[in-house]
Amino acid sequence: MKSIDWSNLGFGYVKTDYNVRINYRNGEWGELEVCSDEYINIHMAATCLHYGQEAFEGMKAFKGKDGKIRIFRIKDNAERLQTSCEGICMAKLPIEKYEEAVIKAVKLNERFVPPYESGASLYIRPILFGTGAQIGVHPGKEFMFVVMVTPVGPYFKEGFKPNPYAILRQYDRVAPLGTGRYKVGGNYAAGMLAGEHAKSLGYAAVLFLDSKEKKYLDECGPANFFGIRGTSYITPQSDSILPSITNKSLMTLAKEIGLTVEQRPVLEEELSTFDEAGACGTAAVISPVERVDDLDMNKSYVISKDGKAGPYSTKLYNKLRAIQYGDESDKYGWITIVE
Ligand SMILES: *Cc1c(COP(=O)(O)O)cnc(C)c1O
Repeated sequence: MKSIDWSNLGFGYVKTDYNVRINYRNGEWGELEVCSDEYINIHMAATCLHYGQEAFEGMKAFKGKDGKIRIFRIKDNAERLQTSCEGICMAKLPIEKYEEAVIKAVKLNERFVPPYESGASLYIRPILFGTGAQIGVHPGKEFMFVVMVTPVGPYFKEGFKPNPYAILRQYDRVAPLGTGRYKVGGNYAAGMLAGEHAKSLGYAAVLFLDSKEKKYLDECGPANFFGIRGTSYITPQSDSILPSITNKSLMTLAKEIGLTVEQRPVLEEELSTFDEAGACGTAAVISPVERVDDLDMNKSYVISKDGKAGPYSTKLYNKLRAIQYGDESDKYGWITIVE
């Protein structure tokens, strides 16, 4: 077997040995199947292809100093997938089946879990989609759940440093009472043009405002947003934000280190009052925000004056990573050890 250069892994797709699948037919979820084929054979009239019935999750497994493999907050992800399934009329996968499939996929691909020293991890991508043949617009009656995994490199190759974000008022990611709170592929298709536009202008991603009034902060690219003002951790609340499990974890850790947590609508103008800000999600844990440019309004909110991540963001980032890699005790019960 060709050995993997762990230190040069990016965020692409690396083929692993197995994926795990479960089919939903005749009103019930079947048995777990282990598969080595990277391809999926589905009917051309499948509802995922025509009407976007697809939801996904994103998680990571980490190898500790002790050689043990740890998966972060598996149950929370399983529950969120159920919420996403309800949101777009798909059959809900039982929590235990989700957990069993994820653990199995990680275990079977154990040799792809990067070593502790590399700072890399095994990315876990569960997907659930409609496979029933259906041309009328109805929810399908057949679904497939697949767990694929792929090793990914450390997110910050050039160190943990802030990036600029743009507000692009000509785009909305989701409708005010739409599907923003679900982790569905359709939201990503809808946000891609805005994201590519921002990148073409040299920004890391779009900081979306609420679609209704364009006054409040919403999602930050495919991540949640938070700001630090004094000793407060402030994160937007809105019906169109996907509840990030990283953000939920950071809120817990913020309280632990003595910060006050505020989850509430956050006005764009408040950007000028933040000492630190970040985008948070599984991929990077925290991507610090250097500044936010509201291009149509000719406004620039500079958050990081020295081009460095702030002290609280750094502390929260290090603390969460330490729990994930098993360097710090798992006092909140977030870790599942793969035996
Ligand atoms: C997945 C996702 C996030 C981050 O969620 P985590 O559970 O922290 O990975 C944030 N926003 C959107 C739109 C997402 O899809």
